[in-house]
Amino acid sequence: MRVLGLDVGGTRIKAGIVDPDGRLLDSEIVDTRASEGRDRVLKSMESLINRAIEKHRIRAVGMAVASPMDPERGILYYPPNLPGFGLFDLGSYMRERISVPVVFENDANAYVLGEWWKGAGTGARVLLGITLGTGIGGGLVVDGRVWHGAHGLGAEFGHIVVLPDGPECNCGNRGCFEAVASSRFLMELYERLSGERLTPAGIAERAKRDDAAAVQAFSLLAKNVGVGLASLTNALDPDVVVVGGGLVNAGVVLTKKIEMHFYPLLLPGLRDRVRLEFAKLGDFAAVYGAAYLAIKTVGGDR
Ligand SMILES: [Zn+2]
Repeated sequence: MRVLGLDVGGTRIKAGIVDPDGRLLDSEIVDTRASEGRDRVLKSMESLINRAIEKHRIRAVGMAVASPMDPERGILYYPPNLPGFGLFDLGSYMRERISVPVVFENDANAYVLGEWWKGAGTGARVLLGITLGTGIGGGLVVDGRVWHGAHGLGAEFGHIVVLPDGPECNCGNRGCFEAVASSRFLMELYERLSGERLTPAGIAERAKRDDAAAVQAFSLLAKNVGVGLASLTNALDPDVVVVGGGLVNAGVVLTKKIEMHFYPLLLPGLRDRVRLEFAKLGDFAAVYGAAYLAIKTVGGDR
């Protein structure tokens, strides 16, 4: 038995054929071409799915989408990085056109579920996960199920306030976790300290060569990540915490410092019992999570 996991983001659509043991048997990445409008994106998704049905006889599709949504019905609520979609009933659209069951999940939730299934969070009863990138995505997996909250917006960890008078966030508040611990924050901070604008990878290179401004920028970023993550951990009592996303590619210049700031802020009862891990599945974590949901939908038999 095989399913298709799809991860539809603002720049790329990732597709993976996955079996119930979590083996990635085939994969494909295409450009989303979101600027060409909704129909264009939908056609790419449909052709990826139809190719998978023909070539691999998949039994179901799990779809992770970079959008606030009603995961049960597959309704998207104005995805900021897929601007042509607005309020869109992707569930009905797909069910009318695709011959196998299609299930939906927010991409950050799917990412954390993927890490729980086959990545750094395996075996966790309560897994708290965040992704550090342009923004901060979050997810909470409890006993193998994604926690959605009462309105489907559960685990939007990027908008807890970490610095009350900090920089303005896209949501309108100040000092949100994602306003002080994202790649944008890192790039702006480094520019203030050095007068140069570099990508996060460029700043990481400099930090590895002991460039003072780069080291300082990563230190402050790591401190903010540690503070936000420790607050969430103290509130939610997970057994494993997974940190992933593009910024983690910076390596030890970031990860060691996150550990250093995170553990001392935990409640004494948690300090020795919570495991902080960095994501293992890389770019395909959300594909695994989406595939897991698809496998559950059709019963998971081989
Ligand atoms: Zn915010």
